Amino acid sequence: MNSVRNPSPRLANMVPYDPKYMPAQCMMSANENPRDIPEEVRHEVVHALRNLAFNRYPDPLAQDLRQAIADANGLDQDNVLMGNGGDELLFDIALAWGGKGRTFLNIPPTFSVYENNAQLTGTTVVNIPRRADYSIDEEAVLTRLAQGDIDYVIIASPNNPTGQLADETFLMKVLDASDALVVVDEAYFEFSRTTMRPYLAQHRNLMILRTFSKAFCLAGVRMGYVLANASLIRELIKVRQPYSVDAVSQQIACAVFKHRECFERGILDIIDQRSWLIQELTATDGVKPYPSDSNYILFKVESMDAHEVWEQLYQRGILIRDFSNGLYTSQCLRVSVSSEEDNQTFIEALRSILKGEAYE
Ligand code: PMP
Repeated sequence: MNSVRNPSPRLANMVPYDPKYMPAQCMMSANENPRDIPEEVRHEVVHALRNLAFNRYPDPLAQDLRQAIADANGLDQDNVLMGNGGDELLFDIALAWGGKGRTFLNIPPTFSVYENNAQLTGTTVVNIPRRADYSIDEEAVLTRLAQGDIDYVIIASPNNPTGQLADETFLMKVLDASDALVVVDEAYFEFSRTTMRPYLAQHRNLMILRTFSKAFCLAGVRMGYVLANASLIRELIKVRQPYSVDAVSQQIACAVFKHRECFERGILDIIDQRSWLIQELTATDGVKPYPSDSNYILFKVESMDAHEVWEQLYQRGILIRDFSNGLYTSQCLRVSVSSEEDNQTFIEALRSILKGEAYE
């Protein structure tokens, strides 16, 4: 047969997630860590890989890593689940709590993967947009939750791409407003120093998502985890791919987590550089930065077309992320906090572009 029937109609209007990853001298688009892992950790990884049995399947639940993360968080192993990046766990959450006849509450603009996963799993999406300053419309969210039909809600804190934390008192109210699963996405929590971890014991509907991709410099490895009540973890285990976390990644993440204090300086540097970038963006005519508790800054371009600014930056070897065609982010660009050198190059180039200076 030289034809094939169509896939599920759910895919008809779907656009695949595109991180717009292109080569550049200054990589400031994907909220990665500008540093690679420290040499001593790399040595340990190489040693571990030399002795790895590549012919054997990996430990399906990555128990060593799971235990290390449980210990660090004062939890038991069955409160932790590892995934192939936070992305896989987000998909598992949609598989387990979404589906036909189920409803997901989304708070855009936010990480677009949440809504994509809901669409993929046939889940109804209820969007409660943020206010003009990107703060959460708390009353609207709580009122909608109180209707009782929401199956799960995901709140990124800090939020991507807007940068700010959700208010802790508000999150507590969300947890009390219904029995919906409340996922607090803390992918960037090492840069905000704020976590909902202390509330896990009181709230059975709380799940916290984290990643090794940002503070721990492992975006290339794919490792994320969730913390939650053991009954929630058991449900996620039903839908996950049994060997999604491969043996190589387990070894690397174990070494990194064991030496996590080595990453502290890098985190503090990013926090410092974030303040510097906000200050410089504030002092730049024609742009308005939004406050950030994370390792990226969203800013609005006021004096020229934002996509044009993005393009001219790229011509100068600087890749940032263009959100200007987003429904809630017109004229907005997002820059990831990078090394001091990259950040300076970016600010100089941006000012030059906004002044209309030509680039040879
Ligand atoms: N949540 C948020 C808010 C993110 O920005 C990201 C990464 N872009 C993730 C989760 C997933 O990260 P990873 O799959 O690299 O762990």
